[in-house]
Amino acid sequence: MTNIILFGPPGAGKGTQAERIRDNYNFLHISTGDVFRYNIKNETELGKRAKSFIDRGELVPDDVTIKMLAGEIDKADDKNGIIFDGFPRTKAQANALDDVLNEQNEKIDALVSLEVDDKILMERLKERGKTSGRKDDADENVIKNRIQVYYTETEIVKEHYKQQRKLYHVDGVGSIQDITKRLNNVIDQLI
Ligand code: AMP
Repeated sequence: MTNIILFGPPGAGKGTQAERIRDNYNFLHISTGDVFRYNIKNETELGKRAKSFIDRGELVPDDVTIKMLAGEIDKADDKNGIIFDGFPRTKAQANALDDVLNEQNEKIDALVSLEVDDKILMERLKERGKTSGRKDDADENVIKNRIQVYYTETEIVKEHYKQQRKLYHVDGVGSIQDITKRLNNVIDQLI
């Protein structure tokens, strides 16, 4: 399997591009944000634990997130790989991911970082908030907090994979199609 982390701040386009990668390459798409939202909608125990953090634009605690993720990876049996979207978001999550994959004789092949300026991120998220129905897209302060959390807690994850020589950068500004082409160029070298 080829296992790729699609990385970047909120609004970088991870969700949109991960779905295209899923379809192009027959990968399992794991979006931790989507799994949390599904659980919140269905009022599960996991959803109840995660909701207040998500509404404030903070990270859900690592123990909750890691346990959930381990269950998702088991669904990859008949796929060519996994595209991780929104995970890992902390150094502890990155270590846990390496361990979980290692137990299955798998590994992360690349972290692909979508690069987008903060100003464009804010504009995109405010625009998305008009139609996404997401509470955390609807409030400018929550959006700012999510971007801030990315820089203080999440960006460091790049370093973890850089040390493993698995870090790739892709310009995340342009048309959806152009960005997909840039991503495909990277992924084609990995499979
Ligand atoms: P996303 O859909 O990736 O923007 O995630 C929405 C929200 O879900 C985030 O702002 C966090 O509150 C929570 N979340 C998603 N993925 C993670 C993760 N890997 N670790 C902690 N919290 C997460």
